[in-house]
Amino acid sequence: MYVKSNPSDARANNRRLLFRLLFPDGQLSRADLCKRTGLSRATATDVTGEMIEDGLLRELGAARRDGRGKPGTLLAIDTDALRLVCVDLSRPYVMTGAVMDLRARIVERRERVLDDGDRIDPGDVLSLVDEMVRLAGPRLVGIGVAVPGVVSGSGRVVSSSNLGWSGVELRDLLEGEFSLPVRVDNDASAALLADRFLGRGEPNCLLVQVTRGIGASVLLNDEFVEGDDHAAGEIGHVVVDPSGPACACGKHGCLETYVSAVALRERIRREPGRRADILSEAGTRLGGALVMPVSLLNLHDIAVYGPPELVGDAFLDACAETINSLSRSDFQSVVRVRRCELGDDATLRGQAVCVLRAIVGRRGPSAPAAS
Ligand SMILES: [Zn+2]
Repeated sequence: MYVKSNPSDARANNRRLLFRLLFPDGQLSRADLCKRTGLSRATATDVTGEMIEDGLLRELGAARRDGRGKPGTLLAIDTDALRLVCVDLSRPYVMTGAVMDLRARIVERRERVLDDGDRIDPGDVLSLVDEMVRLAGPRLVGIGVAVPGVVSGSGRVVSSSNLGWSGVELRDLLEGEFSLPVRVDNDASAALLADRFLGRGEPNCLLVQVTRGIGASVLLNDEFVEGDDHAAGEIGHVVVDPSGPACACGKHGCLETYVSAVALRERIRREPGRRADILSEAGTRLGGALVMPVSLLNLHDIAVYGPPELVGDAFLDACAETINSLSRSDFQSVVRVRRCELGDDATLRGQAVCVLRAIVGRRGPSAPAAS
């Protein structure tokens, strides 16, 4: 279907385009921005002026003069004017909240250790967000929550076996409470955005998260693949060996029973002498499961996010070797399987990127409360 764009769409797109070029730590003059985007000088001046007024960008000093003409003023992301609040529900036994700046850096952090069987209910999330909102103060312009589970485009948690939730309208709940734009996203999708925009990820990338379970997310041309049921990437309970061990979901031989951090730690605890073999077998198992989707989409870049003591060379090399040997052909380049290097904060920082992607196009909601 052909959809006619209107001037406010064009303006929103231009804001996103300029923000993207400067995120996270770019410094460019208006002339550079015009050169890279094809925008006219008048449009760039107009849109950047508006973004400076809104607190998204700021002017630095003059650019170095090279050649003739007056040096332009450099623009960068403003890290002082505005704040975001993000919460990560994906880690076992702890719920993490952060106040963040517009470069997705953590300014303040609070952790709540979970007892009571690792349970979180929506009221606990509300209470942590409330604490973070108070810390952030009047500069706050958006809230994000990363959830281990299936999340719809409207921010509804369709299902999360880790949290024991189904059909929780988390975005509506938080927007109603705090009257700010809210994003609720799947945790693997958040980690993928962090890897893409703050790490080494490419516009087409598959990220696999090896945590309590196994989750994945796919980015194609910088857009998430969501799927008909919002469940693209939910590969943990796909059976890879029907005669394999029983899984908590009732089936046998799910991918998660072989490759999750919990399963691997348990196996290493039982046979500490076989540590390298266990990790390499797990990498082979994951590679065997990924070779078909990777070839189907012709992807070259696979990131694995997980505990460094598990997701190391033995695991990654076996995974890459399996994918490349099973899919080898004259027309496909070598698939790279690498570790996501952003550490424990990847999910929080990626969730901040999700919020930024949602708000930078808008005038108004992202303006400071004082203006
Ligand atoms: Zn299962």
